[in-house]
Amino acid sequence: MHLSHVCSNKTCFLLSLALCGLLVLLIPSLQAPQRQTDLPRPAGATRRHAALVRPPQTRSPGSPSRDSSLDLRDVFIAVKTTRKYHKSRLQLLSQTWVSKAKEQIFRRVCTDDKCTFIFTDGEDKELRQKAGLNIINTNCSAAHTRQALCCKMSVEYDKFIESQKKWFCHVDDDNYVILPSLLELLASYSHSQDVYLGRPSLDHPIEASERVKSDGSVSVKFWFATGGAGFCISRGLALKMSPWASLGNFITTAEKIRLPDDCTVGYIIEALLEVPLTHTGLFHSHLENLQRLPTDGLLQQVTLSYGGFENRRNVVSVGGAFSLAEDPTRFKTVHCLLYPDTEWCPDKTHP
Ligand code: UDP
Ligand code: MN
Repeated sequence: MHLSHVCSNKTCFLLSLALCGLLVLLIPSLQAPQRQTDLPRPAGATRRHAALVRPPQTRSPGSPSRDSSLDLRDVFIAVKTTRKYHKSRLQLLSQTWVSKAKEQIFRRVCTDDKCTFIFTDGEDKELRQKAGLNIINTNCSAAHTRQALCCKMSVEYDKFIESQKKWFCHVDDDNYVILPSLLELLASYSHSQDVYLGRPSLDHPIEASERVKSDGSVSVKFWFATGGAGFCISRGLALKMSPWASLGNFITTAEKIRLPDDCTVGYIIEALLEVPLTHTGLFHSHLENLQRLPTDGLLQQVTLSYGGFENRRNVVSVGGAFSLAEDPTRFKTVHCLLYPDTEWCPDKTHP
């Protein structure tokens, strides 16, 4: 009995030793994993040197992050306008692509759940009474100044964040959005990754002078997507922009580089967050020669525009439903090619 006691004590002792050894071996793997990434840091603390020229990024449609379930309800489209263009520009949009955003052409409708939002600067009862238009009065100044435009962009950003949608797309009131192409483009990326899509207006990065605290300034270079052609930002990236873009911070950020709203978006994304712009030729502004766009690829583009009525007409070259006199912007003609069943489209719309 005495012997068996000793034996069992010895066994216990050896077992405890083995257990302790095992614990010592396991401790490192039981520790919490180290954080892999840092959260975006405030403006002053970023490595701005890495934000210099990068080769343009091209899209990879077959990428594994493809979102095949994406539909129009996941996209927040912000249209920037101003009081004086409610009649001359917005009416055409509400008659064409903005109205289609609400119809059942897509897998799911976009009626109760709103998709397109008009950001303006003045009350307009007549416009508000138009069925289906989601109008947001930003109360920003109606001037075409940097401050007024940045004020609008700041409200657009906040409303998008509030919306919980997957993608933020900004367009001007002289853009036509080809919704099926937009959906196809966005579906080839993941909204939870960092995606900034658009067309640069320059063929080189812009060089800005960034104000720093002690009255000094440093030079900073970055690409930006021109607002006049429209651009899109994934929710994942938009959330990271928050310290410089939300709740009025966008205006403060714009003041640091004294550049317009679209440049400021590029500054936050490329220079501060170090996420490169994905250059795409599918967005178009009237800064380019729109007549040169090949007619057969027109309906595959994501945005179109028009301009230059005063001197030389700069519109897309497309024949069909309406003459140049009937449809000077060509938006109605494009619309009837896309949606020939629209009630105001002539029967035969194909050229
Ligand atoms: N815009 C604005 N406030 C103004 C003038 C223009 O918000 O005082 C908007 C306008 O509705 C459009 C965008 O800014 O969405 C660009 O204006 P526009 O097409 O007249 O000029 P450009 O394309 O030549 O910059
Ligand atoms: Mn314009």
